[in-house]
Amino acid sequence: MNPRAILDYCQSDLAAMLRCLKRAVEIESPTSSKPDVDRMASFFAREFNLALGTARVLKHPTAGCSVIGEFWSESHSGGHKRVKPILLLGHIDTVWDLGTLKRMPFRISKGRAYGPGVMDMKSGIVCGLWAIRALRALRITPARPVRFLLNSDEEVSTIAFRKEILAEARAAQAVLVLEPALGAALKTARKGVGEFQITVHGRSAHAGVNPAAGVNAVSELARQILRIEKMARPRQGLTLNVGMMQGGTRSNVIPERAWAAVDVRIPRAKDQKFIEQKVYRLKPIHPEARLKITGGINRPPMERKMAADLFRQARELGRQMGMKIEEASTGGGSDGNFTAALGIPTLDGLGGVGDGAHALHEHVIISELPRRAALLAALIATL
Ligand SMILES: [Zn+2]
Repeated sequence: MNPRAILDYCQSDLAAMLRCLKRAVEIESPTSSKPDVDRMASFFAREFNLALGTARVLKHPTAGCSVIGEFWSESHSGGHKRVKPILLLGHIDTVWDLGTLKRMPFRISKGRAYGPGVMDMKSGIVCGLWAIRALRALRITPARPVRFLLNSDEEVSTIAFRKEILAEARAAQAVLVLEPALGAALKTARKGVGEFQITVHGRSAHAGVNPAAGVNAVSELARQILRIEKMARPRQGLTLNVGMMQGGTRSNVIPERAWAAVDVRIPRAKDQKFIEQKVYRLKPIHPEARLKITGGINRPPMERKMAADLFRQARELGRQMGMKIEEASTGGGSDGNFTAALGIPTLDGLGGVGDGAHALHEHVIISELPRRAALLAALIATL
């Protein structure tokens, strides 16, 4: 396997890559719109077939369809030992509502491609596809079969096909996640994500006539929020954000009820127990107030140790192609959090290089697309 030859091939096929990216972006696929996500799933199922893979569409009664592609399984079916596949993992849903294309159409300007979902993460899927196409074109048969799973509801916490994704990951040798890069760096660690809701039940009363009869839920919640904020350990990377609160009905009524929603980010798996215990052990400050607490960590952290070996290999392959590959960690979650938490080596951020995920200026740098595809191809060929 000659990494330079792979890079040359990908660069020579950039126009085709861009055409595919344009078509993918022009099929809007917000998570909540099943028919549109289904259309996106069929589009990529066809692309899998064109790359000589078999595609299976995973149906769901309410969520959009996911797709799984299989490549080179026939090359590895003869032996006695089952060869564990490499899993490429992406998602076809975006955070952009239908109609967004009208105000931010796919366009190319100054070496960048713009459009809803272009960075997060349709370009990542296209890079994965071209990695496979490059290996096909150069007649390189990887040592392991490749499975390519496109999730349909990653942007809303991966509910519909969580079980299938975990099962695919568990059976894999390694997981390569096609989320966008951070700057140009691969993502070797991601924080775990959690959410808690704290509800205070007090007692209502007339604020003028008999204020002492009331138990002010807003006031109790305010005090609890100060306690919650003290649970953060910013130096260790454990952060908290009380992002929403609501309480009361009128200024002349002592509020009976108030609630707050708290976002939590944890860098290490063991922080889950720490923070969940702390939050659930909150006690009312007013003796007659009651607290109701729900929620917890819903995405475990992707710890760096699960990515370290894969990153080293990617960096070396990059070096052979004249690219300097760096690593970064992020507070944002992806499906890589789940696969790494299973103990499966996981490397993330292998998709597009650009800026503005979930923002109006979302774009990818076009010249990076073939480089990313080549890096992926070289990884697949050598894992
Ligand atoms: Zn994403």
